[in-house]
Amino acid sequence: MLFERQKFLVAGLSRSGIASAEYLREHGAEVLLYDDVDDENVQKTRERLEAIGCVSVRRENLAEVSATCDVLVLSPGIPVDHPLPVSFKRAGGRVLGETELGALGLRCPAVGVTGTNGKTTTVTMLESILQKAGKKAIACGNVGKPITACLKELGEDGIAVAEISSFQLETLTSFRPHVAVVLNITEDHLNRHYTLENYIFLKSRILKNATESEYAVLNYDDPIVRGFAEHTKAKVIWFSAAERVNGGYLADGYFCYMGEKVCAESDLLLEGEHNRMNALAAICAAKLFGVDNASVAEALSSFRGVRHRISTIGEVDGVTFIDDSKATNVDSAVKAIGSVKGESVLLVGGKDKGYSYEPLFEAIGNSHVCHVVIYGENAFRILNAALKTGYSALTLCKPFEIAVRVAFLTAKRGQNVLLSPASASFDAFRSYEERGDRFAEIMEELRAERSKNREETELVLPAENGIPETAAPVLSEAVNGEGDE
Ligand code: ADP
Repeated sequence: MLFERQKFLVAGLSRSGIASAEYLREHGAEVLLYDDVDDENVQKTRERLEAIGCVSVRRENLAEVSATCDVLVLSPGIPVDHPLPVSFKRAGGRVLGETELGALGLRCPAVGVTGTNGKTTTVTMLESILQKAGKKAIACGNVGKPITACLKELGEDGIAVAEISSFQLETLTSFRPHVAVVLNITEDHLNRHYTLENYIFLKSRILKNATESEYAVLNYDDPIVRGFAEHTKAKVIWFSAAERVNGGYLADGYFCYMGEKVCAESDLLLEGEHNRMNALAAICAAKLFGVDNASVAEALSSFRGVRHRISTIGEVDGVTFIDDSKATNVDSAVKAIGSVKGESVLLVGGKDKGYSYEPLFEAIGNSHVCHVVIYGENAFRILNAALKTGYSALTLCKPFEIAVRVAFLTAKRGQNVLLSPASASFDAFRSYEERGDRFAEIMEELRAERSKNREETELVLPAENGIPETAAPVLSEAVNGEGDE
């Protein structure tokens, strides 16, 4: 692509838009900027990008100006059927995303990881395995660092470990990763992609350009992903928790690859079968880059997971708080329910994405979840699913802040409060990170209130008035649901 001869319109000024504009300016392109939002953050971004030669477009001039541009760089947050890309394409322009720009600029091998759940965990784990083996691997893409921002550092001898979401796949046409990994496919983002078929089609695009020289690492246990093998020219490497496949599998307490024991399952610190599957996928990809077994074992035994994914964040009065705010669809919440140890009060709700919550309640019915607190914009849809499946240990409580407190009051000593919402966060938060952080803050508020209560109780009830000094803890247990109150 001849950047200096073309005029680019970058639409959407968040992480990937900023990286695209910077990258294009560095390569001498003429860059125009547009965003519907005009808050303080966007204004600051505009100023920063204008300082390197970009030009902002106002809403009233958008149609006129976009007609003069050759390429529209679309943020993954904007769907391809939005009027802006639709009219741009109709007028003969090219629409692409930051990931496509990154793919065009890559000079080193890449691993592309997609799937409904586990992408960030797998990409981060794989980066760590490759680095332990002395390779210059960089986790990039949807995981946080845009690919274009990593190109210089990657050079020719790096390995780009790129997380690719379905939103990014909408505008990705030239990517041909050396290894494409497809982790799993379950219902998600139907509010954007409309049908499961369309969502599956988008996921399959990660394999679209593969030739016989590339590899496809595919989940054998997932019927949809297994079907991808029939439509790719790439060499297929399977991973499975159930069978000894040609690739990565579990046997006799070991992670194995092609008939060889790689390392013990107990080397993996992360809990849950889903994380063993993520590890198998990462091992397969690492093995294709010639990584030795010791490096795999070393990486898995030091990898503590990524924030907001089944992370134990603390304890208040014997109740453990687990933040799984990134569980933004049903399958990820089902996996959390299955892997968290002990009984849990589950917090579910948020922004709806168009799928059914009944499978969630079917899983809850056979689990250690003892109560569900439903909150958020989709609370009534979730409630409806619960009632349809006959699940009744419920509290409906719309605002998140109150819901967390109710979950805490419902949990008994020794139980968990598990935030695994099966929904996006955008009804009340900017992101799942913000939701997880607020969860942690409420936990801290509860801790402070409890300790203040205890101090006051101790002051009001001195030991010499005949009431034993243990009065405070007993009182707190009562509030936790074990006592009379
Ligand atoms: P992604 O990047 O695909 O959203 P993450 O690694 O961030 O995936 O995990 C998102 C959520 O999905 C978390 O709640 C996590 O516990 C859960 N999860 C992780 N791996 C898997 C998997 N293989 N299958 C199902 N759920 C998973």
